[in-house]
Amino acid sequence: MLLDTYGRVATDLRVSLTDRCNLRCTYCMPEEGLQWLGKSDLLTDDEIVRLIRIAVTRLGITEVRFTGGEPLLRPGLVGIVEQCAALEPRPKMSLTTNGIGLARTARALKGAGLDRVNVSLDTLRPDVFKTLTRRDRHRDVLDGMAAARDAGLTPVKVNAVLMPGLNDDEAPDLLAWALDHDYELRFIEQMPLDAQHGWKRDGMITAGDILESLRTRFTLTEEGAQERGSAPAERWLVDGGPATVGVIASVTRPFCSACDRTRLTADGQVRTCLFATEESDLRGALRSGGTDEEIAGLWKAAMWGKKAGSGLDDPSFLQPDRPMSAIGG
Ligand code: SAM
Ligand code: SF4
Repeated sequence: MLLDTYGRVATDLRVSLTDRCNLRCTYCMPEEGLQWLGKSDLLTDDEIVRLIRIAVTRLGITEVRFTGGEPLLRPGLVGIVEQCAALEPRPKMSLTTNGIGLARTARALKGAGLDRVNVSLDTLRPDVFKTLTRRDRHRDVLDGMAAARDAGLTPVKVNAVLMPGLNDDEAPDLLAWALDHDYELRFIEQMPLDAQHGWKRDGMITAGDILESLRTRFTLTEEGAQERGSAPAERWLVDGGPATVGVIASVTRPFCSACDRTRLTADGQVRTCLFATEESDLRGALRSGGTDEEIAGLWKAAMWGKKAGSGLDDPSFLQPDRPMSAIGG
């Protein structure tokens, strides 16, 4: 299994399928985009499936989350999901997406074996969406979510990041809307993972701010720590339940001691943490004829070196070289 020196075991694999994206969220990417990975640098579909197979059959991975960049831009996505669904033991599979194009592919993804989706949506106002993402695609995202729910990719979870002066007044509206549509809303604190290095600790909207704002309209009751387990979202029952709202407070209430994640970038590097400054190359081993056992060994060695925490609270914290879109959020 993927054990580290602090006794944590990684069972949840995040796989980035591409570093490209069709949005330009201000907290993630600059307007002009980034220097994308070259085709030969990207893992092929077969290489991705092989690494996931090694992770599932040899390393104890039970959950696989496809992400990016925007994973729906990967032409082979449905085929990758289908091959992973045939693995024994079959991993649970989900997708984190901005929802654009999901209206077209939701049924095929469900048919291929995908269990669930997380769709990112920060605002209910099309004009604010355009400012936040620099693209006029609000309707496409809403349509994508509805298609995912109708296709049975449930529960559909909605990820929202609140930005000061843009959408920080929308928390209660977003929650009312999510309850109405049967979506499970989770707020994510903005993290220092933007390519432009524009994040400021002082200006960010904290979990405390979000809860205070929600409580102006809803009664929130904290779910016990037992329910949370290794899940990054702390959850609250809304108006007595059963509906819940989550907050992923990576900055103000980090959950590193319970972390069960390992990450694979689109160019085949293992990362032990979003905020890791080191990576371990699996693509080289894949392409130089490494055996499954050797690759599993490299992955284990990488995870053994996982740090105790993200270091976000440390004054010496250094933002990783790769931004969120290139790591896989
Ligand atoms: N493109 C897909 C999407 O937006 O859902 C998948 C990749 S995106 C990097 C994954 C998640 O990371 C999204 O929910 C997005 O809102 C979140 N994210 C991106 N940059 C972030 C940041 N600086 N702080 C917090 N969350 C961020
Ligand atoms: Fe694209 Fe997702 Fe980053 Fe937005 S958060 S720019 S949708 S990768």
